[in-house]
Amino acid sequence: MGVTKMAAPASKRPTVRFLQTWVEDTRRHAFLDACILDERRVVDTLQKFEDGTFGNCVMCGAPIDREILAEQPWAKRCGSCRQPAPIVPFRPRERAEIPRSAA
Ligand SMILES: [Zn+2]
Repeated sequence: MGVTKMAAPASKRPTVRFLQTWVEDTRRHAFLDACILDERRVVDTLQKFEDGTFGNCVMCGAPIDREILAEQPWAKRCGSCRQPAPIVPFRPRERAEIPRSAA
């Protein structure tokens, strides 16, 4: 007993143009998501400059390694607090953040 896959009639199949548009839209949305995330990181980082907390680890307060800040100026944790993955306390502000690498 197998599942019979029936091909949709030609009139119901997505056209190449439809698929191209779908791919373009998906890419555009991903790009916008990335821009929104980056904008938030920039704003957060500028706020840290204002507060005088730029470069301080949010977990232990120690200065974040220069190598990390050079790669990710928005980094929140120092090398020690990143590995192994720390148990992150619940902070509503960060809930929407999409994790990239170990940031
Ligand atoms: Zn730390």
